[in-house]
Amino acid sequence: MECLLGIDLKKSAAARAPYAGGGHFVTRMSASPGTSRWSAQESSQATNGSATPKGIYTSRSDRTTRSGPGRQASLFPSKKIMNLHTSILALVVLLCGVARAQDIAPVRHEPNGLNSAKAKRAHYVVMVSLDGFRWDYAAKWGAPHLLKMAEEGASAPEGMLPSYPSITFPNHYTLVTGLYPEHHGIVDNEFLDPERGYQKYSYKDKKTDADGSWYGGVPLWSLAERRGMRAASMFWPGSEAEIAGKRPSYWVPFDDKFDDEKRLEQVVAWLKLPEAERPHLITLYYSNTDHAGHDFGPESDEVRDAVHHVDGLMGELEEKLKATGLPVDMIVVSDHGMAQLEDRRWFALDKLVDLKDAATEGANLYPKTEAEKERIYRALRATNDSRFETYRLKDVPGRLEFNHNAREGDPVVIPRKLVPITAHARQETIKGVGAHGYDPAQFPQMKAIFYAEGPDVKAGARLSPFENVNVYDFVCELLGLKPAKNDGKKKMLARALR
Ligand SMILES: [Zn+2]
Ligand SMILES: [Zn+2]
Repeated sequence: MECLLGIDLKKSAAARAPYAGGGHFVTRMSASPGTSRWSAQESSQATNGSATPKGIYTSRSDRTTRSGPGRQASLFPSKKIMNLHTSILALVVLLCGVARAQDIAPVRHEPNGLNSAKAKRAHYVVMVSLDGFRWDYAAKWGAPHLLKMAEEGASAPEGMLPSYPSITFPNHYTLVTGLYPEHHGIVDNEFLDPERGYQKYSYKDKKTDADGSWYGGVPLWSLAERRGMRAASMFWPGSEAEIAGKRPSYWVPFDDKFDDEKRLEQVVAWLKLPEAERPHLITLYYSNTDHAGHDFGPESDEVRDAVHHVDGLMGELEEKLKATGLPVDMIVVSDHGMAQLEDRRWFALDKLVDLKDAATEGANLYPKTEAEKERIYRALRATNDSRFETYRLKDVPGRLEFNHNAREGDPVVIPRKLVPITAHARQETIKGVGAHGYDPAQFPQMKAIFYAEGPDVKAGARLSPFENVNVYDFVCELLGLKPAKNDGKKKMLARALR
């Protein structure tokens, strides 16, 4: 249920690191040996330095020397060795310093190709997601930097339409693939796949979150890398998995506690890399508004403060991007909005129908036989309960684009009131007061944001609400990349181009 209503990110500290393996940082030196610039420099030093045939690591400490075979068991190493150690240590410190200046976050480096000559001529895109930033927050709470972006660039004053369900993982992955959730396969934050023996995908489980076999489509970063253009991700759902044969050249294992300011600094640091290594597409992610919305509701002072906080970050980012002197287009989007729940008591489907033979995940139902599917469908339908509607999978209204992927379950329950629905409730009420996941056509509170500005974006372009599948083609256009097949229409955002 967590998934369907998007109370996912709310509850606990653990849930705040939803696609993380915890907050443990791996240092750059041990992160991905052999793939980082640091490693390359280190090994060339080791090869060149004939006095240290085993490389820096093995001769870094006196202990190694003392315990090494054939060494005399003296408490202190010889002066010559000491000097050697001192200079190696200095070198290590120097190189670490360089590494730190470039990597502010615990960046993983992929052995992707350098920018092609064509890629070097392309512009840059920094795409930011402000999770759960509702379409009307900027005007409602005052977000001067985002409102200025709207003036200087393009915006969707009435909001951008999230795909159904209006939940974090499906929509972030839609934004980078241009595919509806049922086409890219991440139909919920957590779901089962009947075609994989009812295996469970969970955004919180590294084993599935970082397993590319769950993800369809060609995300923007994989598309770029495949065309000889480097990409980087300072967090984004899906960025930790190898998809369509690639990962971003630079990516960071998700840790929601990682400092907001440092995320931004990392993005800017990437833009200061040498031309051949510099990523042209960078994603960045902040969850502040989503957490505040779940915990305190969209009308709360806490949401107002979160809006001001992330808006400040966007102002700072804009300034820093301009200061690079590079042609950077900056895009700020959100995955969905936020609504105040009408009733916080869990509404459990198993109170209405016997579900004990059906596999379930949240409110998604996966009965194993046709007879069971039909029985559950009929029983739920017969309740005539105004809080939800029940469809056989194939009959879910086409506009929801949610009717032909087995991961969606069958039958499908669509909430029609702002209540938390689940198959089996473990508690009486949910902890949050705000939620999302609902049909954006029925609940405009689900609408998301879209702001863009930069050398390729038309100033003052105001777009009527459009579906978020259209962002993919737009980003491809800015980067000069031929998009992979997707559900968007190029003309939808053509008005936003300069
Ligand atoms: Zn959320
Ligand atoms: Zn979200």
